[in-house]
Amino acid sequence: MLNSGPPESVCHSLTVDVEDWYHVCGAEILPDYRRQTRVVAATRSLLELLRGQGSRATFFMLGEVADAFPDLAPAIVADGHELASHGWSHRLVTGLTPAEFRSELERTAAVLKQQTGCTPLGFRAPRWSLDRRKTPWAFEILKELGYRYDSSLTPLAAIGDPNGPRVPHLIMTSQGSICEFPPLVAQSLLGNLPVGGGWGFRSFPYGMIERALTSYQLAGVPGVLFVHPRELDPDSPRLPLSLIKRFLAYGPRTGSGERLKKLLANHTFKPLVELLDRVPLYPDTSL
Ligand SMILES: [Zn+2]
Repeated sequence: MLNSGPPESVCHSLTVDVEDWYHVCGAEILPDYRRQTRVVAATRSLLELLRGQGSRATFFMLGEVADAFPDLAPAIVADGHELASHGWSHRLVTGLTPAEFRSELERTAAVLKQQTGCTPLGFRAPRWSLDRRKTPWAFEILKELGYRYDSSLTPLAAIGDPNGPRVPHLIMTSQGSICEFPPLVAQSLLGNLPVGGGWGFRSFPYGMIERALTSYQLAGVPGVLFVHPRELDPDSPRLPLSLIKRFLAYGPRTGSGERLKKLLANHTFKPLVELLDRVPLYPDTSL
């Protein structure tokens, strides 16, 4: 990492993937699950937490959730947060054709625009499923549709590229560049650890997350945290998954809200779109 400017000028970003308790990639969605929806209540309590901390975040909204609950996206915007896109159906991008991916983006943007007047400028793929080698066309489509940034590449083994950049960087398309914001990770002898969100955020010692965030801050780059509303809703139902998948999706959740509050109190956070002109963007040399 390179130094750029005094650490106190660095803002981090909290991002939220707005989806229901059953939107776990690869799991079948049964009609009964939709009747047990929790996403509105869980998102509203997250909004309340953020209001209490005076913090603003980026909300990657799933199109089908916005469509089913038309008051939710306007409530997010009314609190001053950024509305971005998480696609429509929560299918992995690696399982979509370019035409299907374009359609997911267009449907989601249309419903968000119609409900709030806002056009999403950022995208996050379900389960970090953009891939520089397998889905290079996805970045072309994002750029063509006017997206300014993406946050779908993670430097983690198994679900991303462990050798990929850990800091914001530029991805080139035939029509110009698009900014990529990877999630916060902690470096260790075992490789990058997922302290910025998901099971890592919920399970690692709090001090590890704090130290990772501070190390990014000292290097002059933002740390990107991510949460799902279900992670702040410990009483939500659980899908009948394998033990490991259950842990990853629903593991210990009771401390998530308090962790989040502490981090928000100790550091400065802004929506991703507001970091675009503030962060050093490194050209990507990984390909
Ligand atoms: Zn998701």
